[in-house]
Amino acid sequence: MTRYFFLTMILTVATFAAFSQTHHFTVTKTDAEWKKTLTPEAYQVTRKEGTERAFSGKYWNNHENGIYKCVCCDQELFSSATKFESGTGWPSFWQTISKNAIVDENDNSYNMDRTKVTCSRCGAHLGHVFEDGPRPTGLRYCINSVSLVFIKKPSALK
Ligand SMILES: [Zn+2]
Repeated sequence: MTRYFFLTMILTVATFAAFSQTHHFTVTKTDAEWKKTLTPEAYQVTRKEGTERAFSGKYWNNHENGIYKCVCCDQELFSSATKFESGTGWPSFWQTISKNAIVDENDNSYNMDRTKVTCSRCGAHLGHVFEDGPRPTGLRYCINSVSLVFIKKPSALK
């Protein structure tokens, strides 16, 4: 009985460790394939972790009701219901559309301690998340317009 208990413990810990270390993306393409399907700007941001210039994207000032999807794989990422005016020049949201839509990862590039956010389905780089957002989450998802596709929906959507 004791042996069984320990075996179960070891398996549980091992499974958890494996799961938490690697995220499996269900949509995978080669670099050449992404290049073919994306605009140069979208490719640079989503696949090379680029950043569009502030106030240059098409969604920072978009106030229509709808859903923002991943430009690479069509996964729904954000809703207009959680979009807010951050003044940064990038579309900003205080919540993702679902907990599983996005993967957070520590980003120490440019000597900054930031958390980058990635589409959970295809690994597209979307932007960063900061802890200076509005209530109720206090989060600010700062996202590149070019990594998103906006789908307009009726105003009933929340
Ligand atoms: Zn995606």
